[in-house]
Amino acid sequence: MAIKIDRNTAILKICSDSISLLCVEERESYILDWWGLDEDDTEYHELDAALQNKLHVLDEPDDSLSTEYDPLIQMALRQNLYGTTNRYLEQQLHQLTSAEHLVEGDIELMQKCPCCDYLTMKSKTGFEICPLCKWEYTGEAQDKSGGPNHMSLSEGRAEFRQKNIVSTKWRHSV
Ligand SMILES: [Zn+2]
Repeated sequence: MAIKIDRNTAILKICSDSISLLCVEERESYILDWWGLDEDDTEYHELDAALQNKLHVLDEPDDSLSTEYDPLIQMALRQNLYGTTNRYLEQQLHQLTSAEHLVEGDIELMQKCPCCDYLTMKSKTGFEICPLCKWEYTGEAQDKSGGPNHMSLSEGRAEFRQKNIVSTKWRHSV
């Protein structure tokens, strides 16, 4: 008999259960991904003053193993689960707890990635990188060559299709 769990609780549980399994390199990489947070980001205001101060003063984390950084890592882990399917969350919960879960609740509203067409993008502002196809959304004329993606959007789309990636983690929008 599967345990019913709502989507938000499932995401929080996966994050808190998986943080202890991360190695130091993984911790550091998550911390660095989020090191650029500042007052303009809503997530920044969820951090306590001591951690906010570190982000300002230091160029990089002084000790990635310190639990002081856990809130930042939790945030990164949570972010990685937004937009994923309930089935994917059930698989993650099964891996972590060996118990069968039934995840219920609506998937967060996500935007379609212009490259892979999956609903993976949180917003189309800033320079968000698609977690599936790694396309960096630049907001400018998407079909020009070069830029951070080192190719045009049509080349990126062709390359993704050639790799034949089918993801059950995110919903496909077409
Ligand atoms: Zn993509």
